[in-house]
Formats: sequence, structure tokens, C-alpha cells
Amino acid sequence: MAAPWRGLLDSEYRPRLPVTPQTPSVTLHEGNTPLLRSAHLCARTGCDVWLKVEGANPTGSFKDRGMTVAISRATQAGVRLVVCASTGNTSASAAAYAARGGLGAAVLVPTGGVARGKLGQAARFGARIVEVAGTFEDCLRAARELAAHHPVALVNSVGNELRLAGQRTVAYEIVDALGAAPDVHCLPVGNGGNITATWQGYCRYGRGRPRMWGFQAAGAAPLVHGAPVAEPRTDASAIRVGSPATWAPAVAARDESGGLIGAVTDAEIFAAYRDLARLDGVYAEPASAAAVAGLLAEHRAGRLTPGSTVAITLTGNGLKDPDAALRDDYDPAPSGPATAEVARTLGLTG
Ligand SMILES: *Cc1c(COP(=O)(O)O)cnc(C)c1O
Repeated sequence: MAAPWRGLLDSEYRPRLPVTPQTPSVTLHEGNTPLLRSAHLCARTGCDVWLKVEGANPTGSFKDRGMTVAISRATQAGVRLVVCASTGNTSASAAAYAARGGLGAAVLVPTGGVARGKLGQAARFGARIVEVAGTFEDCLRAARELAAHHPVALVNSVGNELRLAGQRTVAYEIVDALGAAPDVHCLPVGNGGNITATWQGYCRYGRGRPRMWGFQAAGAAPLVHGAPVAEPRTDASAIRVGSPATWAPAVAARDESGGLIGAVTDAEIFAAYRDLARLDGVYAEPASAAAVAGLLAEHRAGRLTPGSTVAITLTGNGLKDPDAALRDDYDPAPSGPATAEVARTLGLTG
């Protein structure tokens, strides 16, 4: 039997991570997520389409890959308190790994801008939650200034080699599973860290380079317009970012790979969100579905070469955003407790 999985820092990828023998492994056994073939997307596109289910990470998003590295190094450095700005998943991840490592965590979130499941996680993991009356950008500016002037360590991915190094491992896993890099890699883009790290991962692994296709929500698509968006709007809250902090590296990933960054509407995002669940049995959060919506849009536009191998990062777990799940097509049938009545309600009897 193969050795049990013990997280990224104690995996075959350890030599590629910025740790030393003295670095303690603060881990929840993140990584090693499923790579599932999507029958319905293969049929719709004529390609070989694979879903990298990052919602299967311990706190339900890819953020855990970088957080295990950042928090492990923070404990090694004697840090007592970490801080981050977040559209939700970074806060859940930072709070969990801080709890695991015995550190305090403070998370800055835009008031009303975070899915409830993520807030519930941060709260239960014991983080100090600050609701900032402003945007994600306001949260990030405040978090950076706090870290500059107070004894707290910033664990956002912007300019953070530890977070990016951890996030590169998703590319290593995909290459190892497929035997080579895919032709195209689709993912949602918010602050820009993940497209940057994933591209770097492929480049460093040296077993092929996909074209990077990033997708933003149409109401929050600064990288598509080439200018910041003052009031970013989308119900896919994880990618509600108007001014990505990792702007230049994200654009470099697009250009060096011969890829693109496109925009998809919320209607397209939520259609893809429902199809993924209904047709593939994969419950991803709305932001993740932007990557699927984008692939389908590029296919319709004739930019997808038939027969291509495509990997899609499904960045986060659908359970994080129950309000999105129940918003429109939730239609339970009422019934009394008698079996005969339940059968009638289901149309099994007349
Ligand atoms: C953080 C996040 C994103 C965006 O990633 P960036 O690195 O900010 O571009 C997309 N989807 C989900 C679910 C996320 O949590």
C-alpha cells in the first residue's frame, strides 16, 4: 500500500517548498485533491476536460495549499498573530491553520461581502473578525499597514513567496496525474495570486506549459478592461475584486502562456454552477464555476481546439455559500408524514 498522504510539506513536493528541516509542519493534510473527468464538459466541448476539485481541501478551498507553508514558517519565526484581508476563503484558511499552529489570527473582511459558510469557519476557528465598511481593497490596504507597523505577520498571497510556493503544487499534482501538462488551464481570477502561482508551477515543473485561461466576473473584470473597477459587482463573492494586487504577474501569466483573461456574466456563472452539481455531482462555489462558464464561452467563440486536454481549477467548495445554492431554484414539495401522501406528492401514485 502507498504511504498515507500527510499534507504538502511532508509529500514528494517538499523539496520544492521553502522550508528547512527546522520548519514545523502545520498541516491539515491539504493537497492531493481529486482530478475528475467531466463527462458533460467533454461532450459539450469535444475536449478532454478535467476538474481539479480544490473544494476537497481541509477548509474547502485552494487557499490551504499556501497557508500550510505560510503558517508553518510563521510558527518557526516565532510569530504570535497573523493577519489577512479576505473575500472569505483566505480568512477561513488562515484561521484554521493559525488554530492548528497555536497562533492568533485577525481577519479583515468587507462588511456583507463574504459568504456565510466562510464567516462561520473563521468564527469557529477562533479568529478575530473585523468587518470593514469598504471593499476587499480597503481590507488589504489596512492589513498591509497593520503588518508594517505592528507585531503581526501578513499572510495574504500578494508578494508572498510562501503562499505562492504552496499554491504552485496544484500544477505539480495535475501534471503527475495526467502525465504531462494540459493544453489549456482554466481558473477564476480575483486578486490574481492563483493564476500566477499555477503558471509558475507548470514552468518550474518542466513537463509542459498550458495556455492559461483566466476568467473574471463581468461586473468585476479589471484585468479584462485594463483598468481598476471602483465598485466591483458579482454574486460570486470570492472574485469580487476591483483592483487585483497581483496584477502584473497575472497579466504576465496570461501573456507568457499565450493565454487570455476573459469575462463571464453572473448568469453564465450560475448556469455553470448548477450544471457542475447536477451533471457532474461536483458542488463548487459560484466563483469556481466562472472557470467552467469561461471555457464554454471560449468554445462557443471557436477558440478551443477540438481534442485539447483542459484542466479546470474548481477553487472552492459549494458548501461555503448556502445562500447562493438556495437563491432561485429551491422548490421543495410540502407533504404530510403519511407515506401515501409522500408518494402522491412525488407523483408515484394518482
Ligand atoms: C481566492 C479565490 C479565488 C481567486 O483567487 P485569486 O488568487 O485571488 O485570483 C477564486 N475562487 C475562490 C473560491 C477563491 O477562494
